[in-house]
Amino acid sequence: MKLKEFSNFVAGESKRGSASEIIDVFAPAENQLYGKLHDSTTEDLDAAVKMAKEAQREWMSFSRDEKSNVLTRIAKVIEDHFDLFLETEVKDTGKLLSFAKNVDIPRSVTNFRFFSQHISSFDGKELRQKNAQGREEIFRVLSSPLGIVGVISPWNLPLYLLTWKIAPALAAGNAVIAKPSELTPASASLLGELLATYQQKINLPTGLISILHGYGKTIGEAIVEHPEIKAISFTGGTFSGRKVYEKAASGLKKCSLELGGKNPFVVFDDANLEEAVDLAVRSSFSNQGQICLCSSRFYLQENIYEKFKQSFIEKTKKIELGSLISSQHKEKVMSFLLQAKECKGVFLTGDLEEQKKHEGTNFLDPVILENLPQKSPLNQEEIFGPVVTLNSFKGEEEAIMLANDSSYGLAASIWTTNLGRMLRLSQQVEAGNIWFNGWMRRDLRAPFGGMKNSGVGREGSVDSIRFFTQEKSIFMGEI
Ligand code: NDP
Repeated sequence: MKLKEFSNFVAGESKRGSASEIIDVFAPAENQLYGKLHDSTTEDLDAAVKMAKEAQREWMSFSRDEKSNVLTRIAKVIEDHFDLFLETEVKDTGKLLSFAKNVDIPRSVTNFRFFSQHISSFDGKELRQKNAQGREEIFRVLSSPLGIVGVISPWNLPLYLLTWKIAPALAAGNAVIAKPSELTPASASLLGELLATYQQKINLPTGLISILHGYGKTIGEAIVEHPEIKAISFTGGTFSGRKVYEKAASGLKKCSLELGGKNPFVVFDDANLEEAVDLAVRSSFSNQGQICLCSSRFYLQENIYEKFKQSFIEKTKKIELGSLISSQHKEKVMSFLLQAKECKGVFLTGDLEEQKKHEGTNFLDPVILENLPQKSPLNQEEIFGPVVTLNSFKGEEEAIMLANDSSYGLAASIWTTNLGRMLRLSQQVEAGNIWFNGWMRRDLRAPFGGMKNSGVGREGSVDSIRFFTQEKSIFMGEI
């Protein structure tokens, strides 16, 4: 089989990275090598930065409407090639076609459309105050782009998360240099090819967007360290995020970190159990549990524990999962299953014996566990796979204590119909995103991000634009 070759997008051209090191790209569902790419070098990065500088100047000369039109046209390019992106993303990630069709590709289109309506105007604002002499002092606050910014994204929602960063970086007036995960380069490579083809038609300044493929430790770190790159927006694991933060800090760069999660799903006895179970299945196993927002620790009020459990098991047994991202990742998930066994966890679905039928593939059956101590790794560490634990609680105070007993604080799904309790838990649960009687609801205008080890900073309309800009305060004089 001829291997596909994935390309960078630099200076308006689709071309391979210049490192001699070749990175293999696997199709996880088939567990087969199907593509390759060349790692990128600092020379590739320097070339991207050089072009980005010129392109950003040109971009600043565009009116708001012109910029908005460019973003809308990029959205249209993705939309016009929807089926190709769909096929590409499914092959590269092993995810279910239905998931990519309903989530990954539509959201990538929406990201550009959404930020096309949030182009920074940089009009600035005026402030006035009376001084001791009774004269009015006038200040101007000016906002401007940072220049060139770096964005780094993970493999679980490849195009969705990459475009979620590229679009606001452009909307704020910057040039952007993007690094996708080397595990899933295909949709970014396709985007680069299409931008190379359509750049004149869509009026995209050459070099405004660069996409560099390669390892985090090579081109990822080089992007973070490059002195001309003024900010880093990173989505990935907490371990890598910490390293990125340290490097960005030594360059005194702005850094936004969207990191891992260990999200609780809390069900009180006054909740609508049927709806809670339906959402429990989706929130646990969508994308094989490989979404930072997936629920992984269930806390069920003790008097509804058995009823919820039986229905959850029944519904889980009917679902179909796609493939995990790689054999290495499957090994990591399997190591948690072995730990569950050592900790005397009870497998309600997907025990080790049942999983044997998937040997030699990257598939797993969904796993529901119970009887695990709160301090076990299964209740504390991010697994990022189709594995959840069931635990019980007596009352509200204990539920809050358990939900907060984690080093992470990304999201929580809480099921209750008691309004007073909703108000109390909104305040007390430590998570950047809380859904009552729901999961993964998003209004793109709302700030998105995590507390504790789940991240630093917020992304969303105003928050993303603010992150990718800087302000000047100017004293204009007194009258
Ligand atoms: P990683 O942290 O391993 O990688 C994320 C990206 O960072 C990849 O492109 C990676 O490249 C790159 N990278 C890794 N190390 C460095 C470094 N030192 N300097 C610069 N770049 C680096 O995460 P995964 O790809 O494994 O993604 C899964 C993680 O992402 C999970 O923890 C998940 O929770 C989190 N996530 C968080 C989200 C959120 O919004 N909070 C959303 C989605 C996922 P390479 O592939 O070569 O390592």
